[in-house]
Amino acid sequence: MDCIFCKIVKGEIPSKKVYEDEHVVAFHDINPIAPVHILTIPKKHISSLMAIEPEDKELIGHIHLGLQNVAKEMGVAESGFRVITNIGTHGQQTVFHIHYHLIGGRQLEWKA
Ligand code: IMP
Repeated sequence: MDCIFCKIVKGEIPSKKVYEDEHVVAFHDINPIAPVHILTIPKKHISSLMAIEPEDKELIGHIHLGLQNVAKEMGVAESGFRVITNIGTHGQQTVFHIHYHLIGGRQLEWKA
């Protein structure tokens, strides 16, 4: 499968990892939009939120616990941050391996 994030999971493409456990990897976005911009992904290939299956329920919870660790590691747990997953065309998803953008390190605004 020609998935760039699967290649990051396997170490075939370099990444700046900030967190990793059995099920999850988190690494710096190559094109950050804020002082802190980390992508957290499951090691399992799931194309988007719409492809999550009932069997993935525990994994999705695990990702959220991983996001807590990423926030602490990046020093934004107290100041706050945002987690976003883009889906499909209107969501401007460009990489079709589910990923959660953790964005922070400055005051964010709310606009789409
Ligand atoms: P999407 O638009 O929500 O699908 O976000 C994909 C994100 O992946 C974008 O913010 C890209 O900058 C980021 N990205 C693409 N390729 C790489 C890479 O090789 N390393 C790290 N981030 C990447």
